[in-house]
Amino acid sequence: MKRISILVAGTFACFFTSLAQTDAPRQPLESIRLVIEFSGENVEVLEASIIEGGNRSQKSLRTVNGWFRVEELGGSGEVLLGRPFSDPRIHVAHSVDLATGLLSGTLAQLPREIAVVTVPKVPGAAGLRVVAPNGFPLLQLDISSLERKRFRKSGNALWLAEPVMVTGEHENRIDLLVMGDGYTVSDTGRFRNDVSSVLIQPMFRAKSPFREYAGFFNVYMVTVISNERGADHPDAGIVRDTELDASYGLPPLERLLTCNTQKVLAVADEAFPQYDHIMVLVNDSTYGGSGGQIAVSANTVLPDEVLIHEFGHSFANLLDEYLVTNSPVAAVGPNCDQNESSPLWKHWIQAGSPGVGAFPGCWAPNLFRPTFENCIMKSLLLPFCVVCREHITRAINEAVELYDSYTIPPSMNVQAGDSAGLSVELMRPADHALTATWSVDGIVQKSDTTGRFTYLPLDSGGHRVTAVIRDPGGFVLADPAGSMTESIEWVFQVTGSVVRSFALKQNYPNPFNPGTTIVLDVPKAAHVRLAVYDLLGRQIEVLIDDDLPAGPYSREWDATGSPSGVYFYRMEAGEFVETRKMLVAR
Ligand SMILES: [Zn+2]
Ligand SMILES: [Zn+2]
Repeated sequence: MKRISILVAGTFACFFTSLAQTDAPRQPLESIRLVIEFSGENVEVLEASIIEGGNRSQKSLRTVNGWFRVEELGGSGEVLLGRPFSDPRIHVAHSVDLATGLLSGTLAQLPREIAVVTVPKVPGAAGLRVVAPNGFPLLQLDISSLERKRFRKSGNALWLAEPVMVTGEHENRIDLLVMGDGYTVSDTGRFRNDVSSVLIQPMFRAKSPFREYAGFFNVYMVTVISNERGADHPDAGIVRDTELDASYGLPPLERLLTCNTQKVLAVADEAFPQYDHIMVLVNDSTYGGSGGQIAVSANTVLPDEVLIHEFGHSFANLLDEYLVTNSPVAAVGPNCDQNESSPLWKHWIQAGSPGVGAFPGCWAPNLFRPTFENCIMKSLLLPFCVVCREHITRAINEAVELYDSYTIPPSMNVQAGDSAGLSVELMRPADHALTATWSVDGIVQKSDTTGRFTYLPLDSGGHRVTAVIRDPGGFVLADPAGSMTESIEWVFQVTGSVVRSFALKQNYPNPFNPGTTIVLDVPKAAHVRLAVYDLLGRQIEVLIDDDLPAGPYSREWDATGSPSGVYFYRMEAGEFVETRKMLVAR
């Protein structure tokens, strides 16, 4: 019997909580998906992810001391500071072995094989047993009966995603998954080349604003192998055996090239369930493509332009800016409005951007579009117009945070005078830098692009340090949702206080008999002299005559032996001289 145990904390505990509430709403079915590799004596978890209600989850798994721990992105409490950083797929080195106690039973010598397991996160489900070491629920998975699969070209294939352009952890990137259809086993080199020449180079190296924001994207590819080359051409009666059923439309939509969505999603869910958007390149020499849930383009006739146009639909919900006179659709979108006098992009018109008006003929005759000619949503071989570019830029910034990570101090309890270095790892657009504006208790301290700030706490109590991060890229004139701004806040509890200037305080008590206390502040190292004089200016006693480091000081003066009356005390420290009066009263 071979077992793998996986510790699941966080949401799993919540599940138990909800079970206790009989009137609790039904929980969506959650399951844990594991890709497990058997290799000799080792069993490795290649990948772990969570499937929730049939959808990609907002959660990811990461290893903590060899355990997989579930955390919610953007969670609250302590977890907020410990954002999950790692792509589970990268945890390939996680070994589960007998020594750790996480795997029980005897392993037979197995060939190198891979199993994909989906386990429902329900206590008592088949293959699971719950134990609870360290107070955490534990799933114990019987792997002896798992169906294991080898890499195959189709059928029960295990599709694996390969990184093509990785700029950061997938949690804070827009993850594009590119797959091909109609590429045979001998076309894998062609597919790899197409991903670069049709997608990466034209879109992320050339087409604004994807060029500027390339660092906000990751691109992965899945080499999907078909038995036959090309796509179906129903108008010509041509049917090809391809893995994703790519097909051109019937007249008059011969250029509408689509795939079988179910099959595309199945490949994506297996290859890289963390994907955000999917593109499919079809290995066919006929012009065509489609947008929507999946962006599709043939790989031969202006494939890059078609793919970028279709991605404009898929990614940013842009509408076609060309006229379809018989369109039954009267949709309004970011670049398509029914209102000619005050269209959605009025701020661009008011800013006087040349050519930006409300022109008739966006998709349907009663709709208006923003530009006169220049938009790839109207015609290929053009840039995005300012309106579409703004909308894409906002969509990019909405999808990711403007920073990858930030300083988590070892403790939020600090001593006055002990400075705390704070930093934010800002995202990096290609052509400009983001700015961080740092405030302490609402008062701006500095604003620059370094992402670094040194907080010097001075006074006791709770103090709030805030970094407001902005994208000043200039592509966005109106930002109603605040997509281009984010803030991070640290709340410090400060103990003690720090002296900021030389000061000689009034003694207390006063009048007094026989003792009193004199307090003075020394803001920086200095030679300090403090002495007591009588009414005639005669020195009675020297209380301090020394080199002192910065800080507050206090000295007692005992007036025993001095008659009642007025006395003076005088502090001298470099340029600073101050004298105060005190009264001995018997
Ligand atoms: Zn279109
Ligand atoms: Zn446009």
